[in-house]
Amino acid sequence: MRSDVIPHLAVDTIVHTRVPPVVREHLEASERERLRAEIKSLLIANNAVLVAHYYTDPELQTLADESGGYVSDSLDMARFGHEHPASTLVVAGVRFMGETAKILNPEKRVLMPDLKADCSLDLGCPADAFNAFCDAHPDRTVVVYANTSAAVKARADWMVTSGIALDVVRHLHAQGEKIIWAPDRYLGDYIRTETGADMLLWNGACIVHEEFKGVELKILREQHPEARVLVHPESPPSVIEQADYVGSTTGLINEVKSHPAREFIVATDKGIFHKMQLAAPGKHLIPAPTAGRSATCKSCAECPWMAMNGLRSLREVLASGANEILVPEDIAVRARRPIKRLLDFAAAQKRVVMSNNDA
Ligand code: SF4
Repeated sequence: MRSDVIPHLAVDTIVHTRVPPVVREHLEASERERLRAEIKSLLIANNAVLVAHYYTDPELQTLADESGGYVSDSLDMARFGHEHPASTLVVAGVRFMGETAKILNPEKRVLMPDLKADCSLDLGCPADAFNAFCDAHPDRTVVVYANTSAAVKARADWMVTSGIALDVVRHLHAQGEKIIWAPDRYLGDYIRTETGADMLLWNGACIVHEEFKGVELKILREQHPEARVLVHPESPPSVIEQADYVGSTTGLINEVKSHPAREFIVATDKGIFHKMQLAAPGKHLIPAPTAGRSATCKSCAECPWMAMNGLRSLREVLASGANEILVPEDIAVRARRPIKRLLDFAAAQKRVVMSNNDA
């Protein structure tokens, strides 16, 4: 990591004290079936559609697929919600995903199973501190990752996703622009290395991807010499440098599906294994290591906030209308601009950016 990552240890410390344990919902088969049936009825009664992230519990992903909803990455979830005729979007994911859905679909009601479902990247980039940082560097173009609050997006010139970040930064670099990048320092460092752009990095991290370990990955690769190593770019450089493929969640799934290899070591949240296995049955998927023999992992490749989404809370919000996502109009108007800029850029490149995002 280069020395021009901003020192922001205070934020890092605050984030790590707010990481909850991973608590998954455990249901008896009879209750699970009852909830699944009730949720399907409530979705119809509310003219609602369920959109779920790849990292949520397979139970929710299956329900989204079965009920005519959708499973994908954050911006693609918002695109699907925008194009779907339902008047209510139920977003199973983390809060910035609900906000992005609301920003792009202001006329729709957006509900989430649990409003405490945060993200360490969002938590680690509070709007006040970020605004002050931008104010101190007025000569730089502000590029933020999708995993940010609406208020932070409102300050940005561009929003990017992991699938198109390299193209956007290359474009800006070619225009001679200097960049502020936020919030993921690892993704920022990867993009800076690949593009050579002048980037000042905010010091945020995903607490899930940050735990993948380069030394242990090397040992695992020696045990599985035929395995292809797939890495999400929110991982540390020692992990990224061992990758055969670096890409977004959608990119990683496509790689497993299309590459002839039979065995893959995967460095991202374990929730993605559900869709990977469906896309490529018969292929062997191995989780990348998060800790060595003498260490402990905190998230252990499972996002604690994604795990907050469960069938009980999903049924509850559909029945009560609770947990609606609201974004103040003045912030939504400003946050929509960097998102639209990304979409226009992708359209000009004739690319389908919506299916290349992460989070
Ligand atoms: S996996 Fe990481 S980036 Fe994704 S929601 Fe969880 S903390 Fe945020």
